[in-house]
Order: sequence, then C-alpha cells, then structure tokens
Amino acid sequence: MYDIIIIGAGTAGISAYKEAIKYTSNILIINDGPWDTTCARVGCMPSKVLISTANRMYDIEHANEVGLNIKSELDTSHVMQHVRELRDRFTRATLKDVDSWNPKHKINGRAKFINKHTIEVNGQLYSSKSFIIAVGSTPNYEAVWKEKLGNKLITSDEIFELETLPKSIAVIGSGVIAIELAQAMQRLGVETTVFARSKKVGVLSSPRLQQIAQVELSKDLNIKFEILPTSVESTQNSIKLNFIENAESKHIYVDYVLAATGRQSHLKTLNLENINSSFSDLKKLPLDNETKQLLDLPIFIIGDAFTQTPLQHEAANEGKLVISSCLNFPKVSNLKQLTPLGIVFSNPEMAIIGSNYSNLSKLGIEFITGYASYEKQGRALVLGKNKGAIEVYIDKNSRKLLGAELFVESAEHMAHLLAWMIAENVTIDDILQKPFYHPTLEEGLRTAFKHARRQL
Ligand SMILES: Cc1cc2nc3c(=O)[nH]c(=O)nc-3n(C[C@H](O)[C@H](O)[C@H](O)COP(=O)(O)OP(=O)(O)OC[C@H]3O[C@@H](n4cnc5c(N)ncnc54)[C@H](O)[C@@H]3O)c2cc1C
Repeated sequence: MYDIIIIGAGTAGISAYKEAIKYTSNILIINDGPWDTTCARVGCMPSKVLISTANRMYDIEHANEVGLNIKSELDTSHVMQHVRELRDRFTRATLKDVDSWNPKHKINGRAKFINKHTIEVNGQLYSSKSFIIAVGSTPNYEAVWKEKLGNKLITSDEIFELETLPKSIAVIGSGVIAIELAQAMQRLGVETTVFARSKKVGVLSSPRLQQIAQVELSKDLNIKFEILPTSVESTQNSIKLNFIENAESKHIYVDYVLAATGRQSHLKTLNLENINSSFSDLKKLPLDNETKQLLDLPIFIIGDAFTQTPLQHEAANEGKLVISSCLNFPKVSNLKQLTPLGIVFSNPEMAIIGSNYSNLSKLGIEFITGYASYEKQGRALVLGKNKGAIEVYIDKNSRKLLGAELFVESAEHMAHLLAWMIAENVTIDDILQKPFYHPTLEEGLRTAFKHARRQL
C-alpha cells in the first residue's frame, strides 16, 4: 500500500510529487497523456508567446502614438513556428524535471477508482492510504459542430499547432481564453469575429469597468455580444456561420472556428461513483472548498479538476500544501491561503485582486469604491497607452483594502502590489503613506485611493 497516489501530472500533480518526495518515496504518480502540463503545452505559455508577438506588432503599427512614423513591412509567416519553438523550450524544462524522477514512481495510463482505497491503471490495481486527484480539465466544444467541421473546429488544444496564421477565424466565447486569443489573432492580421453569449468580456465584475472594457476592446475587435451562430456549414474552402443580428439573418465565412466556451473537468474519467454512489453527480461533489478534501476521506481534489479559480499558481500551491494533509491524515489543512489574484492578458490587461466588486456587493459589505481613469494619466499618456480605468474597494469601517479591479496597461504588476498589500491587511491610510514615484502608472493607484479616502 502506497502512502500517496497522485492522479494527474499537470502543474498541481507535479507540484504535489515534488513536495511529497521530500518526506516519502512510497509514492506513485499516474498520468494519462503527455507529462509536460496543460500550462506549458497548450495553456499559459504558448498563449502568452502569441499575445506578446501580437502586441509587439500592434505597437509597431501604432508607433505614431509615441511620435514615430514607421514604414514597416511585417511578415507574419513565422509567428506560429516561433510560438512552438518557445513553447517547446518551456515543455522541455518540465519534461527534464519529470525525467529525473525515479521511474518506479511513474505510470503512464488512465486511472479509475475501484473503491476508496484502490485504483486501476492499465489493468493493474494499486492501493494507497491517500489519493491526490489532479486530473485538470479539457476544452468544451459542440460535438455536432465537430462532426460537421472536423479539424476546422479547433480549441486551445489545437490552435498552437496551426502551421500558419489563418486569414479569418470565428471565436465562440468571450471569457478569458477567448478574449486573449481573439485579440492576439486580430492584432496579427487575422480577420476575427467573436460571438459572445452574454454582454461580458473577460473577468471584470464591476459594471463600470466592464462597460469600459467592452467599448475599448470592441474598437479593435468585432465582438458580437449576445449573438451565437445558429448553425454552421462546411463549404468547399471555408466555413459558413449563420446567425441573427438585429432581427436579420446573416452569415460570415471563416477559415476556422475556435471554440472557447469554457472547460470541463476530467473527473468523469475516474469512476468516482465506485467510492460512493452519490459521487456520480460531479457538480455536487461534497468537496471542502478550503481543504479540498472529498467528504471525510483521505482523498483530495486539487488544481483545475474542481475549482472556481482555474489558475496555474493556485494549482501549484495546492499541490504543495496538500501533502501535509495526506501524510498527517485525519489532520487536514486549508489549501486556499493565497489572496485571490487573476490576470487576463488582454490589452489593456484586466486583473481582479482580493474581493471583487460583485462579491462585495452580494455579501452586503459596506465598502467605498475609489476610481481612476487612465485616459489622461501622465505616465499612460507618455507611453501611448492611455486607456482603461481602475477601481479599489475599501472597507467603510476598518478602512482596509478589500480588493480591486483593473483594466489598464501593465495591470499584471499593479495587481501583484495590490494582492501583497491585501495580504498584509493594510488600510488606505497606510497605503497613501507609501512612496509613489513620478511619473509612473502607480500614481493612478494613488488617485484611486485618494478618491476613496475623500468619500470615507
Ligand atoms: C489557453 C489557456 C491559457 C491559460 N493561461 C493561463 C495564465 O495565463 N495564467 C494562469 O494562471 N493559468 C492559465 N491557464 C490555466 C492553467 O493552465 C491551469 O490552471 C493549470 O494548467 C491547471 O493545472 P492542473 O494540474 O490542474 O491540470 P493539468 O495541467 O491539465 O494536468 C492534468 C493532468 O491529468 C491527466 N489526467 C486526466 N485524467 C486522468 C486520469 N483519469 N488518470 C490519469 N491522468 C489523468 C491529464 O492528461 C493531464 O496530464 C490557461 C489555460 C489555458 C487552456
């Protein structure tokens, strides 16, 4: 009987293994498919390479914003090759790490539960005192569309494998992955149309910032809000998408359709109902949100497999922290200790830090919103990036910083500052005593904090 069996070797599973091996070598890690993680192979990393190239192209084409007249000739034929070359560098680093592990600890194959102590992989049974389920998720798509469109219907699993940039693409969805990839494609010269079920882009929950983001992103990108294709057809050389807009039947032709309508968990591959028949309803799994423990069992589900926050750093952190719960069972600990932090690599970037506007409102917390626009902000003007706005949320009674939402250039950096400040439990008065260098984007944060303080 093993001490720990880890199912899934993505970011969460690898992190768990690296922590567990410090305390016991009586462990097993099982993985179905490649061992180079979703993040490195088809997630965070290749998407950021593509976005970075797209943003550089945009900056060259908009160099007039900083007083340059550039006559450029841009050749985009190597973009996809560049994405894969850099992506392969990241996946190689992960695989090098995994290759250095004891081969006896690793099994290739799909695990499924036989009972609460035992799993089956490739026809063999393995028992353990505890299990870590880190099986991640896979992109959603319409099966009927897939049948009709074949390899012209792609998801984030396939987009980075395209040999060349297509001429046109329709993106279904307006969440994080949809908006990041759609904007990058558009900026790289691919005629891109986004079909959005709702009137929402990305993650911002503040109505004011959401509105600003919709207007700003729609300047570059054709986003059809509250419109989804009614049907799709495969024609000789392209795909025809039919839809209704302003009560009129319309259609467009595109080379590819990118389905970016969320992801579904791999939990269904595990036969969890063999542990307890009530676990057949995966949406209602009795999983503690903080300890990630399944009912009262020594079984923990971490990473993207069952979470409201499918993020790489959360998956890695949960993998590390869960080992103590496995080895000290039944003493289990809280795995959700990090200040919430989510970033969208749109341009301008979006970020949500701490408690968001929507949650604070729903919980009836008395808070003040400090607002600052970046349209006339000094440093943003200097950079030619004077777009967007930010909000900070301050508790009316304790004067503590509760959260923030950003839609602004370099939000990724300011988001970290804000997350670290929230973790330190600082008040608005503490923050306004800190240095703010001139001229910086951080001065806009001070504007927002001062706006909040005036209301307190
Ligand atoms: C396009 C895209 C962009 C992203 N960008 C970002 C970003 O910028 N920042 C960020 O923080 N996050 C980002 N993410 C999310 C991030 O990639 C995930 O949060 C992270 O990869 C989750 O890791 P995981 O270990 O839970 O799952 P995974 O890395 O998916 O690992 C799960 C593993 O389990 C295996 N498995 C599944 N079922 C079984 C089974 N029955 N038996 C054995 N093995 C099994 C799978 O094959 C896989 O190898 C992005 C994701 C995508 C798709």
